[in-house]
Amino acid sequence: MSELNLVLLGPPGSGKGTQGERLRDDLRLPYYATGDILRAAVRDETELGRTAKEYMDRGDLVPDEVIVGVIAERIDSEEAADGFILDGFPRTVPQAEALGAKLGELGRALTGVLLIDVSDEEVMRRLGGRRTCERNGHVFHVEFNPPEREGVCDIDGSPLIVRDDDKPEVIRKRLETYHSKTEPLVDHYNVQSLLRRIDGAAPPAEVADALSRTLATLRMEADEAV
Ligand SMILES: [Zn+2]
Repeated sequence: MSELNLVLLGPPGSGKGTQGERLRDDLRLPYYATGDILRAAVRDETELGRTAKEYMDRGDLVPDEVIVGVIAERIDSEEAADGFILDGFPRTVPQAEALGAKLGELGRALTGVLLIDVSDEEVMRRLGGRRTCERNGHVFHVEFNPPEREGVCDIDGSPLIVRDDDKPEVIRKRLETYHSKTEPLVDHYNVQSLLRRIDGAAPPAEVADALSRTLATLRMEADEAV
């Protein structure tokens, strides 16, 4: 069977992380949330991890080639022989180009890019409605999981607050970054016929079903191409 080399894209609040973990379990493929990979490479003191750390220690951004190198270390390993799921990278077109070049060197290519599509309004509704227990971090939602008493944690009676990350102006800023930096990736991969769009506004179980169907199609196409 051919490889399944996947990239997950989607705005904050799209449920991408949850779906990624589900795919990891269903497909038994390694799931690389790239922030974690970078931290692990630094912790394990791989050669590239040490290079990345030099930039981080200086407070500089880690260059795309270094991040791609760190990811390639993982992709070019036994655990990813049948494929992988990337989440959080690439985030920009130059990163996508660097990733494509690196995969080419390894004699591999992406099988598909899965975009979990959610409108800005829905993101605002999902993230903006979150209320977090001040003392123990229990999470509620004004609409989807309201506490019994407004503003009070059901579990320990602590006040519920809006975390900085969930404030409307912060969510709007994250969405702006997503639209300006990441959305061009959608076109980039669409031109390469790699993009598959999944409606992320549906309930999580339906999104998961849609993803499974898309993957079955991708796999069929990839097998036919071999
Ligand atoms: Zn609580």
